[in-house]
Amino acid sequence: MFKNKDNNLTKLDNIGEFNLIEFLTNDINIKHKSTLKSIGDDAAVLDYRSKKVLVSTDFLVEGIHFDLSYMPLKHLGYKAIIVNISDIYAMNGIAKHVTVSVAISNRFTKEAMLELYDGIKLACEKYKIDFVGGDTTSSTSGLTISVTAIGEANQKDIVYRNGAKPNDLIVVSGDLGSAYMGLKVLQREKEVFKVNPKNQPDLDSYTYLIERQLKPEARLDIIMLLSELKIKPTSMIDISDGLSSELLHICKQSNKGCDLYENKIPYDPQLLTTCEEFNLNVTNLALNGGEDYELLMTIPQVHYDKIKGNPNLTVIGYIKDSDSETNLVLRDESVVKLKSRGWGSSED
Ligand code: ADP
Ligand code: MG
Repeated sequence: MFKNKDNNLTKLDNIGEFNLIEFLTNDINIKHKSTLKSIGDDAAVLDYRSKKVLVSTDFLVEGIHFDLSYMPLKHLGYKAIIVNISDIYAMNGIAKHVTVSVAISNRFTKEAMLELYDGIKLACEKYKIDFVGGDTTSSTSGLTISVTAIGEANQKDIVYRNGAKPNDLIVVSGDLGSAYMGLKVLQREKEVFKVNPKNQPDLDSYTYLIERQLKPEARLDIIMLLSELKIKPTSMIDISDGLSSELLHICKQSNKGCDLYENKIPYDPQLLTTCEEFNLNVTNLALNGGEDYELLMTIPQVHYDKIKGNPNLTVIGYIKDSDSETNLVLRDESVVKLKSRGWGSSED
């Protein structure tokens, strides 16, 4: 998908760590006055003045979190930033800075690293993030990336997982399940390719699903929308695992229960047709799939008029007082207990 045609590639052994960092980072522009010192010293210096500082970090490990046979390095770099800043937005904060640390085996070239960094820089441009440092080391096998995202919020605006109140609306941004379905499509293509490498995959009918998997976006737009609408959620979390485990996190930390309505969960039409083709249960995908990077929040009912009809926000249930009642209300109106994994048909 993203092959380097140039055979004159530079092995990492042939350039020092310092030269590599310089090569990868020399074109980085600083966007924020709060960045007093960026890459180049022993530490970055950031000035958050009266704001509270939000910090979040994540690992991406080859073979565990990504497979380079269908994940182009540029996309991987982009995604590494997205999954981290998504955590800052989930606190109702604005991400401003990142550091990126990489452990690289000698199978990678300087040019391959630049592809990775192009993706990182693209995400930083799009989301107005200053890339202010990192670390570089070698690994005996594979690629590991660790990103730390730093952001800001006024103390009064920060939203935790533990604030859900009885009767709050459970609201989700965007649509669910597509990123996981995109992974299934890519995995199937990989198997087909193994059998017949000449096979040219026709992925046209899966473009949205694949994009959701390879090039996810973080919902900064939703954080801005909530601020415009003057809505402060009582709790919020980003959906990196499935909807069910994220909602159960909110319920557990808030000591509350929920009624989640199966028939309210939002899907893209492409997901529905592809689920039929793969014979997968769409609810199961949304509940247990993951990597959607949508925001799941609880909102007091008084705000309902402000969000109803907004295509970006869907009410999918209600918070209940009793923490023992974490319910999934099925399409036939029967009620089952919400489980963090394994509801529904056994497929995945
Ligand atoms: P140290 O030996 O003190 O860890 P480094 O040589 O690792 O110093 O880092 C020098 C500078 O380069 C620092 O500002 C550091 O943040 C930055 N840096 C190191 N590795 C990376 C990387 N992979 N991406 C971006 N910046 C990096
Ligand atoms: Mg270092």
